[in-house]
Amino acid sequence: VIEIRDLHKSYGSLEVLKGVDITAKRGDVVSLIGSSGSGKSTLLRCCNLLEDSQKGDILFKGEPVRWKTHGSDRHPADTKQVMRIRTNLSMVFQQFNLWAHMTILENVMEAPVTVLGRDKKEVEEKARGYLHKVGIGDKTEAYPAELSGGQQQRAAIARALCMEPEALLFDEPTSALDPELEQEVVKVIKDLASEGRTMLIVTHDMKMAADVSDHVVFLHQGLIEEEGAPERLFGSPSSERLRGFLSSTM
Ligand code: ATP
Ligand code: MG
Repeated sequence: VIEIRDLHKSYGSLEVLKGVDITAKRGDVVSLIGSSGSGKSTLLRCCNLLEDSQKGDILFKGEPVRWKTHGSDRHPADTKQVMRIRTNLSMVFQQFNLWAHMTILENVMEAPVTVLGRDKKEVEEKARGYLHKVGIGDKTEAYPAELSGGQQQRAAIARALCMEPEALLFDEPTSALDPELEQEVVKVIKDLASEGRTMLIVTHDMKMAADVSDHVVFLHQGLIEEEGAPERLFGSPSSERLRGFLSSTM
């Protein structure tokens, strides 16, 4: 579904991604780990074209993103393609980003109705279904401020699901939550993984990464330092840096 080849990304003179390759096939769960500033969020944002980049390829279902260049920078050339990719790679952020003035149901229905132009009645039925699925079917009429952090994050996941995307992108979905609430969200992500959803997950939660991933990628200063199946990566890391990182987080 998503393929990144030799991606380079700088902010001015700061080189954040120095040639990264990542592939998530249909049904794959790929986790990205690494210390703060290693480029995890930037990589995720590049996937759904929230960031421009300088070099390398991004492919969505085999279709390469087309670019137009401006000096050393480049931007996506085709707005329709950007829309198609962005609506098919739904992102869930650390800080939920729900609209405070809308009920939970309205939050979940908003994008499918206004961005995709779907039928309101059908979207409402689906939205209720996804809210039920993430365990907050009784909160449809509540406003975000009336929910716990864990409930808000589950609403954000229902909102992402309601777009019926090809893949979900998570950026530290549990980092803003207290440990008890974190587990509610981890459970939802585990359920999605066992359903065969394609997911790219940036996380600091090594236990979740070990439990849900097919593949784990350890980023260090904008390069992949080590990657592999979770059993191998966590069980017998070969890089000294990864060993250091794991002992500092576990
Ligand atoms: P964290 O674990 O703290 O979330 P991260 O691995 O997600 O870290 P990124 O957010 O991708 O790291 O940031 C990588 C580097 O890029 C950092 O040095 C950061 O300061 C820099 N950076 C990120 N966004 C911007 C921006 N909009 N402008 C300039 N520099 C940026
Ligand atoms: Mg980040």
